[in-house]
Amino acid sequence: MKKAAEIRNEKMGKNIFLTAHIHMITPCRLSPPCKYCSISSNLVQIRRERYSLTMEEIKERVKIALRSKEITSITLVGGSDLRGHDQLLLNIVKEIRRITNIELAVDIGAPISVNTLEKLKENNVTTIYSSLETANEIVFRDAKPGDSLEKRIKLMEDLDDLGMNIGTIIMNGLGTMDDVHYTINFLRKFKNLKYLYFSTFSPVNGTPWEKKERASILDTLKFIEASRELFQKVHIGLADVEIESGSISDLVEKELEVGAGNTFAGMLMYKNRFIDYTDRMLKLEMSGYHIMRRNELDS
Ligand code: SF4
Repeated sequence: MKKAAEIRNEKMGKNIFLTAHIHMITPCRLSPPCKYCSISSNLVQIRRERYSLTMEEIKERVKIALRSKEITSITLVGGSDLRGHDQLLLNIVKEIRRITNIELAVDIGAPISVNTLEKLKENNVTTIYSSLETANEIVFRDAKPGDSLEKRIKLMEDLDDLGMNIGTIIMNGLGTMDDVHYTINFLRKFKNLKYLYFSTFSPVNGTPWEKKERASILDTLKFIEASRELFQKVHIGLADVEIESGSISDLVEKELEVGAGNTFAGMLMYKNRFIDYTDRMLKLEMSGYHIMRRNELDS
């Protein structure tokens, strides 16, 4: 543990960046939806947390994020469509650019065409997530029968070719521990991997996997520690998927101890729920970390 934290301190320093996650900018059209996702719940009160936002709602959330000087980037999260959401995505980015030039990341799955990626890059969208969850094809198909692992990997390859930052999420709880280690190792071929997060499977009521056993957060922390040795300059941490896993904000100190860093969720904004962690994150400054402010990026 100590070694992983030392590597993080040496290679990444102690500056911490907070991002605001806005969910869901695009509707999920996977059929069937992923078995662990709240979208696949037969309970409407759970499903509606992932309803997509209107353009006005997206802009309103961007303005809320900008009120906090500790938010240094915005991550636009949405559902997938195997035919792509390119035009809608470009429209959303264009509208946001009328308000702010803050760094943007996009996490809506695959595909996204190379042409669209180039336009996003021109608009200061620096990072695209292609969340694999697992690189084991059989495990992927079981958990995500409506999705395409091939398209997600192709998106990562295109991002590497274009020199754009790659983000991805691995889910602890899909397949075996070996499958998770296999997925971590699989990522070594992507030279532009910049963000790697781990979610921890937790059953959601009304979904096909509501009775599946919950994965261990301690195992997830071990995966973070192992990843820090392999990816010394990558931002690594627990994925903040409040709707499916509950809050992980009280685990930030634990994450840091096992080598996580240096970008974490500062705000989560859903259709009907706003969560602001910035005050909690600022307390890390008492332990020698520094929460970056946007004006420090400009200077
Ligand atoms: S792609 Fe994302 S939003 Fe769609 S069902 Fe899967 S986890 Fe849910």
